Amino acid sequence: MKTERITVKDRLHPQDEELKKAAELLRNGGLVAFPTETVYGLGANALDEEAAKRIYAAKGRPSDNPLIAHIADEAGLEPLVAQVPEAGRKLMKAFWPGPLTMIFPKSSLVPHGTTGGLDTVAVRMPSDPVANRLIALAGVPVAAPSANTSGRPSPTTADHVWEDMNGRIEMIVDGGPVGIGVESTIVDVTGPVPMLLRPGAITMEMLRDLLGEVEIDPAIAGPMSPDAHPKAPGMKYRHYAPKADMTLVEGEPEAMAAEICRLAEESLRQGRKVGIICTEETRHRYPEELTAAARVRSMGMRSKEETIAHNLYAVLREFDEEETDCIFCEAFPTAELGQAIMNRLTKAAGHKIIKV
Ligand code: AMP
Ligand code: MG
Repeated sequence: MKTERITVKDRLHPQDEELKKAAELLRNGGLVAFPTETVYGLGANALDEEAAKRIYAAKGRPSDNPLIAHIADEAGLEPLVAQVPEAGRKLMKAFWPGPLTMIFPKSSLVPHGTTGGLDTVAVRMPSDPVANRLIALAGVPVAAPSANTSGRPSPTTADHVWEDMNGRIEMIVDGGPVGIGVESTIVDVTGPVPMLLRPGAITMEMLRDLLGEVEIDPAIAGPMSPDAHPKAPGMKYRHYAPKADMTLVEGEPEAMAAEICRLAEESLRQGRKVGIICTEETRHRYPEELTAAARVRSMGMRSKEETIAHNLYAVLREFDEEETDCIFCEAFPTAELGQAIMNRLTKAAGHKIIKV
């Protein structure tokens, strides 16, 4: 299949003319990747079981990992859900459109092919102008997981999508690099107490400020056994993974950097291609002899965690391109956006964390 690529000239003000063909493709069962404020999504009509199946095939995604339905406005929610719980209403009002996904009991309109067989449906209203307008023009809810091959880091540019999806989908809409860089926060509002299933840019603190009590799915905290059933089925897979063997090192800056230097030198002696992930604040802790032999990349500034989230997946992909054998990565304090960053890094590292 030939994948068409179109570029939106002004991402803040997309023209209907530019998005018309993409919308038509979506409406008619095609696959179209497009930018959102979180990561690039791989879209298909969420009400068309065959189209949803094509998403799983293009990504190589396990079929029990359900898709998020994206809507353009609040009116788009009602047909998809059996009921909107009170907590859901509050969250919608506070955070939609934006990087928050909610789990609702599904209506009969939503096929099980979209929900991985579950009787619930995940719904999000993106704020990105390209995503929002495209969904509105398509006139159908759009199922859109991240537009990467399953198991690879999520795409934050159209080039990343091209690497993974060229020849597998009808179209890529290029709207430039995304803003946030990590996937949406997921909150299950079907139970008596709302539960965080995946941390993201809407932080636990923001959720608790609004709702009071919020639980955390234990699946977020630790490694899952293969037969475990986390509430967000996708959380059990080794997502977001670079090809390299990755280790996270957690501790005070000085001790953390010293341990990373030690591990890196050890691996270099074994003839391995070594990558180090640091930050602007800690870069100076890696001596020149080491940075000459190993590739050291900064993800951004600890004092501005949004820069870290923004660069995280691109940095992992760069190491993939260089065929790095092992990556040693600094850990991040787990408050606020750090919670989402650590969640993704921990998974990328297959839960391999050294505490110093
Ligand atoms: P992605 O497609 O990469 O954005 O991942 C979507 C995430 O949403 C996965 O972790 C899914 O398991 C989760 N998800 C989607 N639908 C549901 C649902 N009905 N219940 C719980 N989690 C869901
Ligand atoms: Mg994904």
